[in-house]
Amino acid sequence: MRDNDISINKLRDMIVTVDGPAGSGKSTTAQALSERLGLTYLDTGAMYRAVTWKVLQSGIDPDDREAVTNIAEETSLEIDISDSAPVLFVDGVPTGSEIRGPEVSEAVSPVSRHPGVRRAMIRFQRKAGNRGGIVAEGRDTGSTVFPFAHVKIYLVADMEARTKRRVKQLKQMGITQTEDEIRHNLAIRDEIDSGREYSPLVRPVGAFVVDTSGITIEDQVTIVEEIIRRESSRLGDLYEPKGRKNPYKRGRSAYFSIVQMMIKFFARLLFGLRIYGSETLRFSESFFFASNHISWYDSTLVGSTLERETWFVAKKELFTNRFLSWLLRKQHAIPIDRKGFNRSTIKAIDNAFKRGDSVLMFPEGTRSKTGRLKDFKPGIGMLAYRSGKTIVPAYISGSNALKDCFLRRRRLEVRIGRAIRIPDGCESDDRKRDYAVLSSMIHEAMKMLEDETYA
Ligand code: C5P
Repeated sequence: MRDNDISINKLRDMIVTVDGPAGSGKSTTAQALSERLGLTYLDTGAMYRAVTWKVLQSGIDPDDREAVTNIAEETSLEIDISDSAPVLFVDGVPTGSEIRGPEVSEAVSPVSRHPGVRRAMIRFQRKAGNRGGIVAEGRDTGSTVFPFAHVKIYLVADMEARTKRRVKQLKQMGITQTEDEIRHNLAIRDEIDSGREYSPLVRPVGAFVVDTSGITIEDQVTIVEEIIRRESSRLGDLYEPKGRKNPYKRGRSAYFSIVQMMIKFFARLLFGLRIYGSETLRFSESFFFASNHISWYDSTLVGSTLERETWFVAKKELFTNRFLSWLLRKQHAIPIDRKGFNRSTIKAIDNAFKRGDSVLMFPEGTRSKTGRLKDFKPGIGMLAYRSGKTIVPAYISGSNALKDCFLRRRRLEVRIGRAIRIPDGCESDDRKRDYAVLSSMIHEAMKMLEDETYA
């Protein structure tokens, strides 16, 4: 009974994302789901359309990156969710069918291609949805906006089905466009949306793919609803409320957990260490942790906050000194050749997971001199994917200036992000692409923690 309660709570708190190309049935599905599950519907396409409408009203060329970005940044967006169909307000004015017309449909992909526009929209979308209880619909909601969404759906359909649907939809809104024009518009939008550099239309890793070509709306909603209910109850089972024992917490070695607790105790006492987001660690699983890297102390400090028996990778040069090597191994360090992952590193990581332990990696490879998140070295996507584990991002700040933290001029902080899960049943048809997508999902999740740190 208790588990059931938890799963229902989780369902209400959930972030569900529905992505896919235009006409694949996203709006219908997302709207129906939000009603059936009592969640708020977040139509991200409407936000890009609203900005595009403003761009056209101002007579600006959609390709003018700077001017378009300025418009996106100065636009005030608000959503009124008091009704079951939420209304988007642009600069205080409610939007209507004007944002669905052919002029906007033609200009929307060129407008949403600009990274500055996307960042402004993504910021707004996160503000609206981060607390949960939403079904977000769009192109990048599962891959970029909410990489940690509890359930990710990716809808596909063949071009004929998509065109027919769009014709019908527009007709209902009193907008007339020929079938050829609509088909052409869909094809061009697909190309621009999938080809842009930042946050393209892509199947997120961990998404359930549903082909809606030959099925009724009723069926497609039911299929997706079943997936969400099943996943929600699975998450409920994994969640350990306070007071219930989590077998993964701390781990098997008393020595390890005592050292971890002592480090945490002294880091709190001496440097005012603050930890945010420990809620994620209440799930009964081992994790693949990915953290930013700014100091030699990161593995020790971040590691002390993770409440798991955790192995971390350290550059192999450190293992040449015998004493240091002994000490490092005692702290569960795994040597890594930074030129590329060799078999022994991969095997050591596999073994750690086989023991039920967790692994902490620093995907930037080397410390960031500026203190800000750098690009990742290749390989993290592959390692994380192969591990089959839930991925948890972490972000440390202040460890590169411990002296200042001691005098409390700066804070030593570790933020633990929300989990990125790859559920069973999400088959992949292109592993290489998935590794790259997963790597950018982890990067985005860490970037969010950075934004929170410096907000
Ligand atoms: O979903 P809809 O067809 O209304 O989206 C309109 C356009 O907005 C898309 O073709 C795409 O260019 C842009 N869009 C986006 N990212 C989203 C949602 C929509 O780039 N998350």
